[in-house]
Amino acid sequence: MTQQEMMNYRADFPLLRESKVAYLDNAATSQRPDCVLDAQRKFYETHNANPLRGLYQLGMDATEDYAAARETVRRFLNAKSDSEIIFTRNATESLNLVAYSYGLHRIGPEDEIVVSIAEHHSNMLPWRMVARQTGATLRYLECTPDGSLPMAELEAKITDKTALVAVAQVSNVFGRTNPMDTIIDLAHKHGAVVVMDAAQSAPHMPIDVQALGVDFVAFSGHKLMGPMGIGVLYGKEELLEEMPPFLSGGEMIEYVTRDKVTYAPLPHKFEAGTVNAAGAVGLAAAIDYLTAIGWDKLHAQEVALTDFALQGLRAMPYVHVIGAEKAEEHCGILTFTVDGVHPHDISAILDAADVAIRAGHHCAQPLMQHLGTPSTARASLFFYNTEEEVQRFLDAVASLRRQMGYGE
Ligand code: PMP
Repeated sequence: MTQQEMMNYRADFPLLRESKVAYLDNAATSQRPDCVLDAQRKFYETHNANPLRGLYQLGMDATEDYAAARETVRRFLNAKSDSEIIFTRNATESLNLVAYSYGLHRIGPEDEIVVSIAEHHSNMLPWRMVARQTGATLRYLECTPDGSLPMAELEAKITDKTALVAVAQVSNVFGRTNPMDTIIDLAHKHGAVVVMDAAQSAPHMPIDVQALGVDFVAFSGHKLMGPMGIGVLYGKEELLEEMPPFLSGGEMIEYVTRDKVTYAPLPHKFEAGTVNAAGAVGLAAAIDYLTAIGWDKLHAQEVALTDFALQGLRAMPYVHVIGAEKAEEHCGILTFTVDGVHPHDISAILDAADVAIRAGHHCAQPLMQHLGTPSTARASLFFYNTEEEVQRFLDAVASLRRQMGYGE
C-alpha cells in the first residue's frame, strides 16, 4: 500500500480524522469507517421496522436488509448455507452458545475437552463450565514461551478420549496463528469437533470454513470495524440442526401451544428476540470495506508497521517482546514488558503522550500465570496506523524508565 493510499483509507475513519491519539489498541476494538456508520444510520432512517415480523413493506425491507447481511457473512466465511450463520452479540456469546447447546448435551463424564492455556477467558470459561456440569475432563495444551503449540503437545492431548477442541486461530496475547489445519485434522481423526475462536483472526486473514473443515467459528463485529453488539457463530448445519436452542422466546419458534413448542428452522432457532439488524447491516458494510481493500494489501501494511515497531522495541535492552521472532507471525500484536515499569504505568505514561495501548492480563490470566508474569503491555496495529504513530509509541516507550526515575 502506498503512503497516499493508506492516508486515503485513514481519512475514511471519523475518529482517526478528529483525534490526536495514536490508537494502538486495535486487538481490543477497531475504529469504524464512515461507510459502517452510514449503513447503520441508513437502516434506521429508511428501513427501520422489526425484521422477521412486520408483514408490511417496511418490515419486509428490514427483513431483506438483515438477510442480505447474513449472506455477506456467509460469503466472507465461504459457508455452504445461510442457515449456518447465526448472529449473536459477540464472540463470547457465540462461544457460550456452543458450550450450552452443544457441550452440555453432547459431552459426558468419559470425555475430554481440550483447550489451549493461551485461550482468552471467553474461550476457556465456557468449557470449564461444560466440564464441571458434565463431569468431563478439561485438558490444557501447553504453549511454548513464544506462544507456539508443538506437534508433540497436540498429539499427546488430542486423543480418542477428546470430544471437543477449542482454540483461537490467533492468540490475543502472542498474535501467533495456530496450525488450524493440523489441529482440525487431528481432532477429526479422533472423532472430536473443533471450535475456532476467530475473534483476532477474522479482521486479518481470509477464513474459508469449508476448506478448513472446522465445525464452529466465533467472531465479533467490533474488531473488524463493525459495530459493537453484533457477533457471528458459524456452525456446520448438521451439528446446528441437532442442537437445542440456547435462548428461547420470540422469533425462534414455529408453533407454540399450551404445552408444546416446535422451533423455527435454522438460523432463527438460535436468534431469540428482536435481532440487531442495524448491527448486522453495519457488520456487512465493514466486511465489504475490508474485502474491497484486499487481504494482501492489509497484510503487507500490517507486517511493515509491525516490523518497524519490533525493530524499535528490540533496540531497547530493557524491553522484552513476547511471541515470535518474525513480524509476519504477530498479526499486528506486540505484547511486551519493560524492566522495572508496571504495565499500568506503561499505559498511563503512553497515554500522556497520546498513545493508546492496552495493559493488564488481556483476559488470559492462566496464560499470564503460565508465562510467570501478572500482566503485560500490548500494542496492536491495524492497517490504518502510520509510521509516525509507531514512532511516537517507540519514543514514549524509550522515555519510560527515565520518567519512572531510573535515569537513562
Ligand atoms: N477471543 C479472543 C481471542 C479475543 O481477543 C476476544 C476479545 N478480546 C474475545 C474472544 C472476546 O471477544 P468479545 O469481547 O467481543 O466477545
